[in-house]
Amino acid sequence: MSTFRFALSSVCIMLFALSAVSQDPVDYVNTLMGTDSEPYLSNGNTYPAIGVPWGMNMWTPQTGKMGNGWAYTYDAYQIRGFKQTHQPSPWMNDYGQFTIMPVIGKKFEQEARASYFSHKAETATPYYYSVYLADHDATVELTPTERAAQFQITFPKSDSSYIVVDPFDKGSYVKVIPEEKKIIGYTTKYARGKLTNFKNYFVIEFDKPFADVNTWKDSVIVSGQSEMEANHAGALVGFKTSAGEVINLRVASSFISLEQAQLNLDRELGADDFETTKQKARDEWNEKLSRIEVDGGTIDQYRTFYSCLYRALFFPNKLYEINAKNEIVHWSPYNGEILPGYMFAGTGFWDTFRALYPFLNLVYPSINKEMQAGLVNDYLEGGWLPEWSSPGLANIMVGNNSASVVSDAYIKGLRGYDIEKLYEALIHGANNEGPMTAVGRAGAEYYKKLGYVPYDVNINENAARTLEYAYDDFAIYQLAKALGKSKKEIKLYRERSQNYKKLFDPETGLMRGKNEDGTFMSPFNPFKWGDAFTEGNSWHYSWSVFHDIEGLSTLMGGHENFVKKLDSVFLLPPVFDDSYYGFVIHEIREMQIANMGQYAHGNQPIQHMIYLYNYAGAPWKTQYWARETMNRMYMPTPDGYCGDEDNGQTSAWYIFSAMGFYPVCPAVNEYVLGAPLFKQVTVKLENGNDLVINAPGNSDENRYVQSLKINGAASSKNYLDHNMLMKGATLDFEMVDQPNKSRGVNPSDFPYSLTNEK
Ligand code: CA
Repeated sequence: MSTFRFALSSVCIMLFALSAVSQDPVDYVNTLMGTDSEPYLSNGNTYPAIGVPWGMNMWTPQTGKMGNGWAYTYDAYQIRGFKQTHQPSPWMNDYGQFTIMPVIGKKFEQEARASYFSHKAETATPYYYSVYLADHDATVELTPTERAAQFQITFPKSDSSYIVVDPFDKGSYVKVIPEEKKIIGYTTKYARGKLTNFKNYFVIEFDKPFADVNTWKDSVIVSGQSEMEANHAGALVGFKTSAGEVINLRVASSFISLEQAQLNLDRELGADDFETTKQKARDEWNEKLSRIEVDGGTIDQYRTFYSCLYRALFFPNKLYEINAKNEIVHWSPYNGEILPGYMFAGTGFWDTFRALYPFLNLVYPSINKEMQAGLVNDYLEGGWLPEWSSPGLANIMVGNNSASVVSDAYIKGLRGYDIEKLYEALIHGANNEGPMTAVGRAGAEYYKKLGYVPYDVNINENAARTLEYAYDDFAIYQLAKALGKSKKEIKLYRERSQNYKKLFDPETGLMRGKNEDGTFMSPFNPFKWGDAFTEGNSWHYSWSVFHDIEGLSTLMGGHENFVKKLDSVFLLPPVFDDSYYGFVIHEIREMQIANMGQYAHGNQPIQHMIYLYNYAGAPWKTQYWARETMNRMYMPTPDGYCGDEDNGQTSAWYIFSAMGFYPVCPAVNEYVLGAPLFKQVTVKLENGNDLVINAPGNSDENRYVQSLKINGAASSKNYLDHNMLMKGATLDFEMVDQPNKSRGVNPSDFPYSLTNEK
């Protein structure tokens, strides 16, 4: 009896322990958030990345065919492999990918080997993935490290159990080494043209001898041949398995060499079994995710918050490795050489300069120091800063927003890398046309001469370029001051940052493309997407004056008119002109269906706009719309984003907004106030200090800020100082259900604008 009682209480303790474990932040993450997407309508365009934060490799179950950027879509029924991926976005597609798939029978082609699966027989977490492959009666489990992974594959009773290794086409190689129970090889697959000396080398170790060795090229299998080099080579190794027999795979890769791939495997997996690697990956996620603790929300809000935080901790991912001498080295995407130091890839600054990099600077600055050091190497090796690295330089999007990424990091206090070299890179990029239009500044000579890139000189999306260049010049101005550059240089960039004024059309009260002769483009339809703008219209881009909202407000007729204009964004119908593209691009459709008027949260240009009410004395409207957008545009579900997530940017918007503030102008030491979503948020800063945000009265109705105390002292300001937050601070928000129309209404309460600078 007493033994029974003892056993019973042990069970109770175990259950209690289990329920405590289930409250870890990683357990709130839904890695499938955003995976229910199509090219013509994006609910995130994400895949369920299995990896560790900023790891060199991620893995994803692969439902799409070889080369399809939509590698995993929620509505697919079949899996064709488990792909090592480095893909930042389906639009950029993948590089260095290869896939592994268990099968019954000698099936290796992507159609033949595909298996039906169900989300009901799938477990998807950041650190562990498992799925039942019905057609092969096999279960695949996998768990990652930064550059390696372990697979655990459970087979049925069969004398023809096989594992396919598919390094895809465009030049691949495999070698089966039966005596070592190993397959080695490489893939050279890259979606965007050619990279110099590019190979992703892989090593796969098995714990069971091969009963049958085959390689294949294209659709032809070569039985008994252990080595194959071809446009599309692959391996197929066979086993006799008993019912429920598990075969373990240990996989790692390297962009440097096969030897380095083996080193990465040995270093990261060591003697760890599957469960140990899984526990380490889980612990790593919990450590990173628990830097922000939230309390006093609904379970769906926790799920959304931590799913967004998970998304914000992947890109840019590490491209560097650690060699046998324990030195940090990388394959250079610029010259193909193996060179010392850091390197990252997989982010588009056009998206991520806005909130993702400022978020790293606040909560995870140490990784951004590595990223900044990587940018120094980008410049040294490639001559330019990459505006969209995937890896190296890519010709996509506009602007020269590396200026913001570099400047914000330094101004927020990051040190320990060659900032002088990065400043040189910014000046170089700001004044020259790059080797492609998306690097350096297309139209640099026009911009320097006229102060804008003209509409009629065959440089597309010229008004967007001008507005972003002007802001980028502001970022350089800020950095020039911080580095003590010459008065002349500081003055030049300050003046150039005012160039946004040149595109303001007093007639329509909006930004408008301008011809070389100084006349505005005509005809002009402010609802026309693209053309003078980038993936947006004038209503979206007219707010792209991050650094001088007061100046913009003056142009728009003063604070009262400015607020009305902001209101108009939500009041206007979601009409559009898609003639520049000739079809409804997905970003247009996502605005149209969101029921928020012209507010297009699914794309980046307008994502800061809600916060601009703070610059004109109507902060409660920011509080209202930030909450509406959090509630309506984000859900912890496969269709949970409202457009491309874009490498942490759209997630970082939610994380900041849920904390109650947002970095409207990176490269300025301030955040603009919203209102917190939770009753309490604790940010454990890397310097050991805590930022505590209390809003005990918070509820769905109580979304307005009645008052704010900072470290116990009342504040009427509509902004927070970065340095103050970094010292560890307590913010006490009093939340109510009616706007306080007397708080934050005086110009002295408004956030930074260049116009107000003394
Ligand atoms: Ca986008």
